[in-house]
Amino acid sequence: MKRVLSVVLVLLISAVVFAQSGKKPIIGISSTWGEGSSASAPLTYVESVIRAGGVPVVLPISHDPDILSRMLDGIDGLIMTGGEDIDPLKWFGEEPIPGQGQIVPERDSFDIALIRMAVERDLPLLGICRGHQLLNVAFGGTLYQDIPSQVKGSLVKHRQQAPRYYGTHTINIEKGSLLHKQIGLEKVAVNSYHHQAVKDIAPGFKVTARSADGIIEAIEKIGSKRVFGVQFHPEGFTASNIDTFLGIFEYLVKEAGK
Ligand code: MN
Repeated sequence: MKRVLSVVLVLLISAVVFAQSGKKPIIGISSTWGEGSSASAPLTYVESVIRAGGVPVVLPISHDPDILSRMLDGIDGLIMTGGEDIDPLKWFGEEPIPGQGQIVPERDSFDIALIRMAVERDLPLLGICRGHQLLNVAFGGTLYQDIPSQVKGSLVKHRQQAPRYYGTHTINIEKGSLLHKQIGLEKVAVNSYHHQAVKDIAPGFKVTARSADGIIEAIEKIGSKRVFGVQFHPEGFTASNIDTFLGIFEYLVKEAGK
């Protein structure tokens, strides 16, 4: 009888462990503030997480460290989304130049705090566009506030007038980098919706892709394998069922499941 009970117990425990390991990882998606009246993220991010096998959860802005901490307890991975410009004076000590765009101070502080706490926990983190720039700023890097007025000789159009699923400029990807492993390409056409860009890379990070004019289009944290950023918008392709960049989201979800 005792033996039967212990066999049943072992089977039960195995079933529970199996059920847990089969659960889809939860991926937090940072939100924007919508004039202080809503917390929202574009559905392209939501659909990309679902297509990659994860469960998307949109994270509303909060400035309470306990709430941030509990949000992070509840997710297995994090996507920092695109959006407004980052306040250069507050976050990297530069006076704003005339080409500087819209700033949302509440979102800046939330995003930076969330990124620092997530990286401290070694949570898988994908920064996209603004999220990629913030990842750099959160760890001591700087930005070009406005490419056309600050990068002399940039002859590449980084604010494309084309659909989001359509690549208009090429990037050259470092062989062996996370991005290279994720999409299996060393050169690819990406979409481009930015006028800011990473200038000085943060200590502990490295550049993994650049456009033809030398603008930094991807970074990763050295030695981490789970913290990385892209300047383009892979979700614009993935949500339209174009699979060139699906590997980026699949990698994030796979790491989140570990
Ligand atoms: Mn670009």
